[in-house]
Amino acid sequence: MTAVDQAWQESVFTDGHFHRPSADGTIPVRDKASGEIFAVAGLATQADVDAAVAVAKPAQQAWSERTYAERAAVLRGAAAALADRSKQFRDLIIRETGCIGGKADYEIGAATSELIEAAGLASRATGEVIPSGHAGRFSLSERVPVGLVGAITPWNFPLVLGMRVIAPALALGNAVLLKPSPETPVSGGLAIAALFEDAGLPAGVFQVLPGDVEVGNGLVTHPDISMVHFTGSTRVGRQIAQTAGGLLKKVSLELGGNNALIILDDADLDQAAMIGAWSSFHYQGQTCITAGRHIVERGIADSYARALAERADAITVGNTFTDDVGLGPMINSTQLDRAAAMLAEAVAEGARVVAGGTTDAPYFRPTVVTDVSRSSRLWNEEIFAPIAPILVVDGDDEVVSVANDTEYGLVNSVLTGDPYRGIQLARRLAAGMVHVNDATPQDEALAPFGGIGQSGLGGRSGGDANIEEFTERRWLTVTDGPAHYPY
Ligand code: NAD
Repeated sequence: MTAVDQAWQESVFTDGHFHRPSADGTIPVRDKASGEIFAVAGLATQADVDAAVAVAKPAQQAWSERTYAERAAVLRGAAAALADRSKQFRDLIIRETGCIGGKADYEIGAATSELIEAAGLASRATGEVIPSGHAGRFSLSERVPVGLVGAITPWNFPLVLGMRVIAPALALGNAVLLKPSPETPVSGGLAIAALFEDAGLPAGVFQVLPGDVEVGNGLVTHPDISMVHFTGSTRVGRQIAQTAGGLLKKVSLELGGNNALIILDDADLDQAAMIGAWSSFHYQGQTCITAGRHIVERGIADSYARALAERADAITVGNTFTDDVGLGPMINSTQLDRAAAMLAEAVAEGARVVAGGTTDAPYFRPTVVTDVSRSSRLWNEEIFAPIAPILVVDGDDEVVSVANDTEYGLVNSVLTGDPYRGIQLARRLAAGMVHVNDATPQDEALAPFGGIGQSGLGGRSGGDANIEEFTERRWLTVTDGPAHYPY
């Protein structure tokens, strides 16, 4: 590590002018491949949440009174700081999440897009002049910040999933208190704070509170936090929605999925197998937009299973920080053991493993499974591991009924040689996002990313939708002359 790298890492890990937890405890930051603890983050407490809120309230007020140009300049400055620090972020993301370099590069690029698009958003929170039924009344609406936004994020894409909330919320005059996953407190939080510090964001407007359930719950229940934005599992999202609902607090949820990749019999076989492998195996299958179900028309089913299995067998697995491999370690032993148990259950119910199926902790070989029962856990639950279960169907109606037979509704893809047939089918699928002739993992800063059903509530962020998300509308009237009332 160079002296500059060392100095920057120290500035991330020690107190800057951003509020830091009092570090009553610590969170060990593990390299997911080697298991080495390569950093230690402070562990926030409820007292830290209270202190952070006390600092954030006046800071948010002052920040919202800055001009849009000043707020935009800070966001562009953070994008520039990220470009300066891209090598350090790349290494941090690879080690903290156990991903390949390409996924880290993707996160850095996508986070930069979020910052640049959010900078443009700062000037677009416009109001309207409203026709009034009262003579002499001038009636208008204006956008005002929500106030203090509590953000809770998962470990899989820590930089971009944090930035997707932080950047638009700050651009629109809010303060953000972020609780990253305890698996990724640095690339998901502390290193992001350092970027905004470099960019000149005033103290207290963005604060990071590393921790787990206690800190997350502290944000959800704090009376001065007006909105909670949660990205994570459906199980936890449901608990947060219940708590926030009881407090009549605005909540936005980006949750899990059990996404279908549909391969019609007129699809190009090689292309389908490549898209299938990427959709299920990228980042070890640990994303909300992974394909957990391959629904294949009978005419192409056998050759598709063979082609997908060949691709799975060709993928190299190992330490992504030290070696040039295609897949890295699973995030932790809980995830690995859960997926292995689901696979074993499916096999006991008659499924056939045609590629992979083996584990060597922390690694899970990319796996292809045929003859999967529609009632198995493997078919019905979010797997979060590199497993591609295949089910054979006949015709468009069966495709639609099988694809829609899930409580989730995040993303589906349809692969076909006839894009018009693909679009017709896509419109019958119950999901927030559908892609024709591409993989299930897609995200763009301007697109309405998000799910329906058990995959999300609110959210659907991206572009101007973020104005709806992170502001309230205020009705403002001015009346010319005294009004007359009965008393
Ligand atoms: P998780 O739900 O276990 O944890 C997410 C975050 O919530 C973490 O920061 C965690 O510390 C915190 N948390 C846990 N319990 C809490 C509680 N009771 N109160 C407040 N906070 C609490 O999810 P994970 O394992 O970190 O991430 C994987 C999940 O995230 C998957 O289900 C995946 O589909 C989902 N995800 C969804 C999206 C999306 O955009 N829809 C994106 C990425 C991941």
